[in-house]
Amino acid sequence: MKRSRSGSRIDACAACSKYSLVFDSRSLESIRVSANTGCRYCQLIRDVINSYTPGLSGAQKITAMGYGQPMQLSWDTEEGRPVRITMYGVPKDSLRVQNEAEYRPPLVTDVPEILCDTGSQKAIARTRAFMRECKNDEGCSPSKSYLPNRVLDLGHPIRLYKTRNEQGRYVCLSHCWGTEHGLLKTTNDTLLSRKRGILESELPKTFLDAVIFTRRLRIRYLWIDSLCIIQDDDHDWQREASNMQSVYRHSYLTLAASKSGGPGEGLFSIAPEEFKLRKIPFKSNRGIRNMVSVRHSITHLGSRDQFPLLKRGWVFQERVLSGRVLHFGPQELMWECMCYTSCECGNVGTWDADHEFNKFWFPGLFTESNTIPWQHMWYSIVENYTTLQLTFEKDIFPALSGIAQQMMKVRNAKYLAGLWDDSLIEDLLWHRRREVRWGAAVGTPPCARPGVWRAPTWSWASVKGAVEFQYDERAERAHRFTPHIAGFDVQIDHRSKDTTGQLKKAMLIVFGSLASARIRHDHGETMNGTDAPIAIEVNGKLVNRLESFIDYDLWSASENHITDGETIHCLTVGTWQDPEKPYGEIYYLILRSCGTSDEDAFERVGLLVLSSAQDCFTDVVKRKITII
Ligand SMILES: [Zn+2]
Ligand SMILES: [Zn+2]
Ligand SMILES: [Zn+2]
Repeated sequence: MKRSRSGSRIDACAACSKYSLVFDSRSLESIRVSANTGCRYCQLIRDVINSYTPGLSGAQKITAMGYGQPMQLSWDTEEGRPVRITMYGVPKDSLRVQNEAEYRPPLVTDVPEILCDTGSQKAIARTRAFMRECKNDEGCSPSKSYLPNRVLDLGHPIRLYKTRNEQGRYVCLSHCWGTEHGLLKTTNDTLLSRKRGILESELPKTFLDAVIFTRRLRIRYLWIDSLCIIQDDDHDWQREASNMQSVYRHSYLTLAASKSGGPGEGLFSIAPEEFKLRKIPFKSNRGIRNMVSVRHSITHLGSRDQFPLLKRGWVFQERVLSGRVLHFGPQELMWECMCYTSCECGNVGTWDADHEFNKFWFPGLFTESNTIPWQHMWYSIVENYTTLQLTFEKDIFPALSGIAQQMMKVRNAKYLAGLWDDSLIEDLLWHRRREVRWGAAVGTPPCARPGVWRAPTWSWASVKGAVEFQYDERAERAHRFTPHIAGFDVQIDHRSKDTTGQLKKAMLIVFGSLASARIRHDHGETMNGTDAPIAIEVNGKLVNRLESFIDYDLWSASENHITDGETIHCLTVGTWQDPEKPYGEIYYLILRSCGTSDEDAFERVGLLVLSSAQDCFTDVVKRKITII
């Protein structure tokens, strides 16, 4: 046992004090032994475990995590069910805290209880409290605005209402269409009857819950995409889809059915008893000194599996564009506006509830300012968006068009098939996200190109799955970029008037340096975790150990199949220079000839990075080419 200087420090066993109460896989038995010999922390952990799973076998492994608070304690029951507990208010007296700044002193009385019912009257009061806390710094709550073209009027009966340029407040619903089974839609056939009235018994559970919640908020109008857009009318759909930006942007509040995978699952949930706080006494050396609050850990937005909505591509812009989003989670309500995030349990913002993405990652998207780093913000948007799923591959641009339109307004640049004219050359340097990084899976293996053409090969939208731009590290280390493409011209045909929507055709014409080589299906060494390594052969000499990224599964049988040894062309895009290193990194697009009569037409198949010391190309020609 440690002796304290002041005499009031808490007795802790070697394991607890050494590791700051952070340990992986200690057996319950060893914790019991330390508890019996006087470690106050082990006594606490033992008591917490007893409270949830009395009689657990001593062989079970226990994990404790978290410097400061709240701490996490986890173990499996005898049946293998994981138990994850959050502990608030554990005093740290004998513990070494690695990062004092991260440590928040115990404030047990401040731990908020959750409502355990996100559909209750109290949930309305909680929502109003979230609203009051919002400082509206970034324009989170819109002033009265024009209603969308159609809304649901929640009088009795509910009816689809065609608006006539009037102003008012409305709520939006963000939901998963699921398999569309049980989804209620408006079509040309049902339009008239929807205008006459919609029976509440017809509404799928999520819609009905949204109606109930909106009425309780005393808002008369509700906007639900499947009902307010005529689903089998291409003209109506194109027009309304390009208007989505404004619909979400001006909603009074967006209700997100985040925990639901389909319209039948509802908005509301009731959390079981274990999610309520329990008080466990923590004994100091001089008797009971403190009560530690514990509860089953509440799932936050980082756990995508518990939030099926947040995996959907369309939902991304609904979330980014809405000023204020109320997430209906599996246990609690979560609030997200442009200026802050919060939740009932108070853990949002702590490491336990870390987000993969957060609305206020994109501050300034709604303000006109010269100081906003638009280019990097866009990369972050694309990197997040491309991790999400789309039911229809052709929606890749429409499902992002609201954000693109918004950025177009404030960035004052042209949107070109997912890239921007004021940063186009650097924008070309996207690549498929690596499968593995630092030993953790981050991307997916290369797969086929989309079934139906949706974007030119120089756009990130031409590949399936997550893409990256690698801009973070460079920005941090003040790397300099020197473009090697002298000029460019982009020609795009859109399917509608919306320049951020679906494309018909697009080409990029550049004047640059081109070198030919043969592409080799490399089985050799990989560089920097490159998951699908290639080699190139220049003048009969093999260049191996390249940092390369392929855009799709090049070698598998498909119409885009490439054979081992086929001729490819490397277009020099630019050099990134780390000021502290003698050699820069040269980025090339790997192109292949389209094999058409137009010998200047190429398509992109990957990205290649060579150190300027490694630059192996000998026969470089400067010419004008078209990439499609
Ligand atoms: Zn201990
Ligand atoms: Zn706010
Ligand atoms: Zn929470």
